[in-house]
Amino acid sequence: MPVMRQPHNIYIHVPFCISKCKYCAFFSTARQPDWDKYCTNICNEIQQWSDKLGPVNIPTIFFGGGTPSLMPTGIFAKIIAKISQCFHICPDCEITLESNPGTLDAARLDRFIAAGVNRLSVGVQSLDDGELEFLGRRHTADEALRLINAAQARNIKLSADFIYGLPGHTTETVAKLCRGINQIGLGHCSLYELTIEPATPFGKMNLAMPSNSDMADMYATIGECLHLPRYEVSNYATADSQCRHNANIWDGMPYIGIGRGAAGRIYTDGRWFEQMGDNALFAPISDDARATEKIITGMRTMRGVKITPDVERIIDWGWVGNNPLLIQKHGDRLCATGHGILTLEHMLLQLTK
Ligand code: SF4
Repeated sequence: MPVMRQPHNIYIHVPFCISKCKYCAFFSTARQPDWDKYCTNICNEIQQWSDKLGPVNIPTIFFGGGTPSLMPTGIFAKIIAKISQCFHICPDCEITLESNPGTLDAARLDRFIAAGVNRLSVGVQSLDDGELEFLGRRHTADEALRLINAAQARNIKLSADFIYGLPGHTTETVAKLCRGINQIGLGHCSLYELTIEPATPFGKMNLAMPSNSDMADMYATIGECLHLPRYEVSNYATADSQCRHNANIWDGMPYIGIGRGAAGRIYTDGRWFEQMGDNALFAPISDDARATEKIITGMRTMRGVKITPDVERIIDWGWVGNNPLLIQKHGDRLCATGHGILTLEHMLLQLTK
């Protein structure tokens, strides 16, 4: 019988930034990389996965960071060429580049697009220059808008990231941010609550953060003021602008994490494996553990988790039946209600046997 090879999405981590933002706990360093060495390492990893998985289909490729837009476009093109040589890049493959304003001018954007980028994600974070400085960002709101305008003029898929819940933020601040985002005319944006990580400069500053209840009110304000529908806890988009890469992963599809700091979930020979880039980890995970992950990511989406046999087996259906105000079955999916989304972490603890 022929072996069924599962498509795998690809995530490539680019762990370099110009400087560290004050809230950032992501795996990235502020130093000049040796791009040739980085490229060689990434291409070696791609080759290893090709040796293990064979020429699987690749529906999406996501360059995340860090600041992938710092990468020389020639390096980017070499990595795409290597993926193309080792796997089958689907004709409609979504190829995302995360970017920061000030690192990507129109000419370089054109070269990235010529090399395959068809979706740009821009780290805007705020439309207020004072807030950008407070966050330790290296750009102004105008620079961010110029990059967004350049991407809009080139008609590629586009997203922008924002942060809310800064010290002093209120529902009115967040409503103003949403009005600003509406004016930009984005098809996709992500709004993340500022969380304070201990190992960051903000973690040592004893900041007067909004209370949990204020944060919940701000979250509700986003739902009311933003002109884009929420499709995941922190993501908003029109139906045809949703991020296919993230949607595939939230839906439980396999993905390969390449580069130091990347994580993946591989499906081969009928089994799931967890892995980390740079050969840091490759270990089997049980079907139940993988099903639990699918429930955690799927329940964060508005369309919910698909009730596949592995998921069905570990759901506590008695608890589901007793909590219709939090969770409901729609066709072959299990979805959190509007109220359930607000108590998601508590619900996830109860949901599985
Ligand atoms: S640009 Fe992004 S990854 Fe880099 S330091 Fe700032 S928040 Fe962290």
